[in-house]
Amino acid sequence: MIDLHVHTTASDGTATPTAVIQEARSIGLDAISITDHDTFDAYEEAVPAAREAGLQLIWGIEISTKLVQPGKTFGKTVHLLGYFPKGPAPEFLEWIKEQQQARHERNVQLCGRLRQFDIDITMDEVKALGRNMAGRPHFAKLMVQKGYVETIQEAFDKYLDERGQAYVEKHDPTLAEGIRHIRDSGGVSSLAHPVRLNKVGTQEEDLIRQMAKMGMHAIEAYHCDHTERHQERYQLMARRYDLTVTGGSDYHGDLKPEVKLGTGRNNNVVVPNKVLDRLRALAR
Ligand code: AMP
Ligand code: ZN
Ligand code: FE
Ligand code: FE
Repeated sequence: MIDLHVHTTASDGTATPTAVIQEARSIGLDAISITDHDTFDAYEEAVPAAREAGLQLIWGIEISTKLVQPGKTFGKTVHLLGYFPKGPAPEFLEWIKEQQQARHERNVQLCGRLRQFDIDITMDEVKALGRNMAGRPHFAKLMVQKGYVETIQEAFDKYLDERGQAYVEKHDPTLAEGIRHIRDSGGVSSLAHPVRLNKVGTQEEDLIRQMAKMGMHAIEAYHCDHTERHQERYQLMARRYDLTVTGGSDYHGDLKPEVKLGTGRNNNVVVPNKVLDRLRALAR
């Protein structure tokens, strides 16, 4: 059994890369991929830890992209997984750095916008909480801590959300760009948790077809938010549009304690090793 969707303290998970590797080993997983949001930072620690534990570790990442459709101004956020069994190419690392820079610049602007509402949040505070991945949830947490709002939700509703007063847009890559960069660097791209597209029936199918046309390799059929019916449906979509399937728990540690590494929610995630064989075959 394997788990190809795992978060660590390098993004918003609560378990360190080493702790994740040890847990994977102790529950008898054969391979995992750490797929932190927009960063490979976990790998510095995870690579030697996996080697020591004798666990296969596949380089991975979960990128936030915007699905831009003709005639629509608002892009929908879509999470795209990228897998690099042979490690990510230097140009891909460079591209990820650009995305992190865009995040940093948005955060600086957001500090400025909030100051206009007499809300004092500094970049130092934000970075202390979120490091490379610092984002709006960290701003929200600080706003609660400092007494500007009662709850995280209030911070989003009043200030940080797309309709909030202090909203600053972040330049996210488009889904098509994400797919292209992963492919051009020899990786395999997979649509993360397709159920969160929030579409059903033919509308969902149209989106998946569109993505396959963009050159996307795979779709995440196994995921902690998927019922057995979802799983079957995404397997069917994969066959129909010539995609391979991937899967994982989307483990976040104590952030989502009901989701377990390797097995998801109440054992609803069981990813067979052959998924990884196909993935390796696709990667160049
Ligand atoms: P960022 O990448 O910094 O723009 O932050 C995006 C994250 O903010 C998302 O992954 C969500 O966790 C959170 N988020 C976005 N909109 C809302 C909202 N309306 N309410 C609560 N959390 C939100
Ligand atoms: Zn996450
Ligand atoms: Fe995700
Ligand atoms: Fe995830």
